[in-house]
Amino acid sequence: MYEGAIQDLIDELGRLPGVGPKSAQRIAFHVLSADPADVNRLAGALRKVKDLVRFCTTCFNVAESEQCRICRDPRRTDEVICVVEEPKDVVAVERTGEFRGRYHVLGGAINPLEGIGPDNLRIRELMTRLSAGTIRELILATDPNTEGEATATYLALMVKPMGIAVTRLASGLPVGGDLEYADEITLGRAFEGRRAV
Ligand SMILES: [Zn+2]
Repeated sequence: MYEGAIQDLIDELGRLPGVGPKSAQRIAFHVLSADPADVNRLAGALRKVKDLVRFCTTCFNVAESEQCRICRDPRRTDEVICVVEEPKDVVAVERTGEFRGRYHVLGGAINPLEGIGPDNLRIRELMTRLSAGTIRELILATDPNTEGEATATYLALMVKPMGIAVTRLASGLPVGGDLEYADEITLGRAFEGRRAV
């Protein structure tokens, strides 16, 4: 529709999740009229996230060094691991202030329709962590939808024979929803009311 650089920017923005053609156009023209310093900061932030951010070698949360901030924190307990699908879910659980253990980020959920099975997730790495013997509880905080429930059921079956308590977040979370959109009170209550599975 437009020529050259502005159309390239609209095309690139339009490939981002949640950005439709109209939003892409609006953002592109905002960038065009914005202060050069602001645009440079945005460009720098985009480059830095690719250069500096990697995944924690222990829990697969986002990190800027070998281990993430949570794995490095000596004040947290090693006895409880909370399993989530994505790094954004770590942020959601942290916001509740209810949890002082460690995390394990699976990198998604079991979804046969999209060809995602247990081998495509960080389940083997979780089993290695659990076999160390220090963990007494595993909290399954996968999303309250079909894929999240299937993943939680699968993990419960794998882990229970190891003699580790397995709990699932209590109801109160919207069914079919996404953990990251739950407000901190609902998610906090769900955490407190978690049940054995
Ligand atoms: Zn970590």
